[in-house]
Amino acid sequence: MSRKSVVIIGGGAGGTILANSLRKNAFDITVIDKSDKHYFQPQFLYIAFKGSKENMVRNERSLLKKHVKLVKESVSAVDLVNGIVKTVDGEYRYDYLVIATGITSNASLISGLAEINEKFGDYHTNVEQSKKVWKNLNGFNGGTIAIGQSYPLCKCPPSPLEGAFLTEEFINLKGLKGKTKIIFFTPYPRAYPAEKVNDEVEPLLKARGIEVRTFFDVDRIDAAGNTIYSIEGDSIKYDLPIIIPPCKGVSGIRYEPQSILNTDNLIKVDKYTCRVEGFDNAFAIGDAAAIPTSKSGVDAHLEAKVVAKILNKGDAKFDGRTHCPFDVGYGKGTFVIGSYDEPVIRYPITHINLFMKHVMAKIYWGSLKGTYDDIFDIYFKETNPAKLKKKYGK
Ligand SMILES: Cc1cc2nc3c(=O)[nH]c(=O)nc-3n(C[C@H](O)[C@H](O)[C@H](O)COP(=O)(O)OP(=O)(O)OC[C@H]3O[C@@H](n4cnc5c(N)ncnc54)[C@H](O)[C@@H]3O)c2cc1C
Repeated sequence: MSRKSVVIIGGGAGGTILANSLRKNAFDITVIDKSDKHYFQPQFLYIAFKGSKENMVRNERSLLKKHVKLVKESVSAVDLVNGIVKTVDGEYRYDYLVIATGITSNASLISGLAEINEKFGDYHTNVEQSKKVWKNLNGFNGGTIAIGQSYPLCKCPPSPLEGAFLTEEFINLKGLKGKTKIIFFTPYPRAYPAEKVNDEVEPLLKARGIEVRTFFDVDRIDAAGNTIYSIEGDSIKYDLPIIIPPCKGVSGIRYEPQSILNTDNLIKVDKYTCRVEGFDNAFAIGDAAAIPTSKSGVDAHLEAKVVAKILNKGDAKFDGRTHCPFDVGYGKGTFVIGSYDEPVIRYPITHINLFMKHVMAKIYWGSLKGTYDDIFDIYFKETNPAKLKKKYGK
């Protein structure tokens, strides 16, 4: 059998795992990324709310197996009809294409947001923005903190609430509780969109005095008047805003055909195989794919493994598994666990669950190379939502 060429656009969590999982003797593998740095994005949360100084960036080359070629270029166009990926400097032909470009936050999509985020930061964009949140929290002396997600599409669905919980913990430990009001806002009808998780976290929000504003899609921000306005006609006056900007699929790549993109610039795919609609030899994985699961590193990981199996052996199916860690503060956490067949289940909030979140962070770099594949197989089997539902009830 002749060797086939695989071009992977994006060397983030999904693209790196996929590149390292393909058979060396069957494929010529090229990863194209505009950056040669790989960021462990979940750390943004801990930089913003705990002042973490832990190293969260590595050179992408060091994370790829030797036989994988890495090209540092920005992709400007993809012609799926003729099988060509274009960058500013060149063209790459492929037998198989995998799009793993992620999603990016863009504060300029909401009037006034770029201006206030420039000053106050946010914990979804980059290290510098996360550091601004930490600096502003430390300089805070009482008043109203408005924290939330401005748009339904966002990385890691628990992260907006994680920010609210960690803010409350910080304020409490600093002795500012009596002088501070924390308002969490969300475009969704509940504090956490999935009902079973909401059942667990809503009492905690109440107990910690965090006010929740639902159906709050940010429309505009009046920076001079310190007020956030929602499309629904509500408003919040703040002293300290911590606002997650809207996220969309990356802009700046011209696709032929354009019809593979949805209105959020995500790639339309078959939810089981991650195949791009209408193209047998093209796939999209991770945040970039319009798949009805969470935008998380765990999903990018599992989807990468499915596509690797399809290319290596010819058959595999993604079951829509979600497994998002969720830090609720004070050393406790839970996981958001579900699949296409099992809507998100009830799962307890415990110290050990937060410990597991930190374990996953510690082994992230090794997991990109497949070091812990056997352990992950067992772990995901043991935490299968159908199995856990029996233990923890509906
Ligand atoms: C605050 C926060 C907390 C989070 N917590 C968790 C968590 O606890 N658990 C979890 O599982 N997930 C978490 N996530 C989500 C997780 O980080 C992402 O879902 C994951 O990184 C997605 O992987 P990906 O490969 O799809 O995209 P990414 O890792 O974002 O990689 C995309 C890559 O594409 C490249 N790229 C983009 N455009 C181009 C172009 N035009 N040309 C070339 N290259 C391009 C980028 O440079 C980047 O390297 C969190 C995210 C945030 C922000």
